[in-house]
Amino acid sequence: MPSDKKASALFRIPVWRCVETQEQLPGILQGYFGIQRCNCNATFSPEMNPSDALPGVQPYRVHFEYTTPPPHPGSSWTRWVCISDTHGHTFTVPDGDVLVHAGDLTSWGKMNSLDSTIQWIKGLPHRTKILVAGNHDELLDSKLFEDGLNNIEATEDDLARAADLVKGPEALSSGIHYLEYESYEFQAKPGGRTWKVYGSPGSPQYSGGGFRYFQGKEADAINARIPADIDVLITHTPPEGTLDTLRNGSTHAGCGSLAIRVSRPDFTRCRLHVFGHIHEARGVTTVPVNCGEEIERVCANAAKSHRRADQPPVIVDLLDDI
Ligand SMILES: [Zn+2]
Ligand SMILES: [Zn+2]
Repeated sequence: MPSDKKASALFRIPVWRCVETQEQLPGILQGYFGIQRCNCNATFSPEMNPSDALPGVQPYRVHFEYTTPPPHPGSSWTRWVCISDTHGHTFTVPDGDVLVHAGDLTSWGKMNSLDSTIQWIKGLPHRTKILVAGNHDELLDSKLFEDGLNNIEATEDDLARAADLVKGPEALSSGIHYLEYESYEFQAKPGGRTWKVYGSPGSPQYSGGGFRYFQGKEADAINARIPADIDVLITHTPPEGTLDTLRNGSTHAGCGSLAIRVSRPDFTRCRLHVFGHIHEARGVTTVPVNCGEEIERVCANAAKSHRRADQPPVIVDLLDDI
């Protein structure tokens, strides 16, 4: 990533405005750049039409910290409820049009952990549920076992059962769509617009686990598969420089190759990027798309600590048509 572009992504602080008054809302930074408290106390028109969008108001709303989920903003919007790194833990998830899980479904790939996670997700009310795996989900990475790099033991039957859990007929009939380096197009609401999403379970190789890749040619080949014409991107890893800071406050552990891919001039359609993996960098920020000021992409690190019951899923409402 060119240094000037990286700097603008790093230091840009989102401006949140009330959709009715356009007054800037107070934001509270929480230690890492760009982490923003929820704006759900703002007044808003619950049935705002696209044509009502006021100049300068971005066609998204983010709810990051809340006790009661804010009401759905209306039929012109699609509510994306984002979680990641649940590692076998289950909790209450607010309703929405689409559920996104950005990987690390399990704790080191144990079958009972995967089973209980999928049963939990099946029971959630969202019409569409989009899942990717993460480095902990070894049972879903059959190549890892072919290469003998697995940390856990599993038979071929175990691998087949794991695959069936996430992409078998029962999963599909429950609205689950498991994405492994692939796209999926769907209507979030009957008769609504079509959304195109792409999901990648990969993350940079700095310890063992599933779906790991080395920086350089391997990373570039994986990230080159991300299409330009998607609306939503789900990756397990953050891009380097965006919500990827480790506890030491200075090390960026995201993927440099992914950061380059999502900042290329052709990648301007994507309005939401959901990821996790770096638990301590949980947060939401926006980045200008293609160095423009008019279009912003919402980036959400939706990792959830199972020790923090007060961390609700990240809700991102996107205006359907802009
Ligand atoms: Zn994790
Ligand atoms: Zn991870």
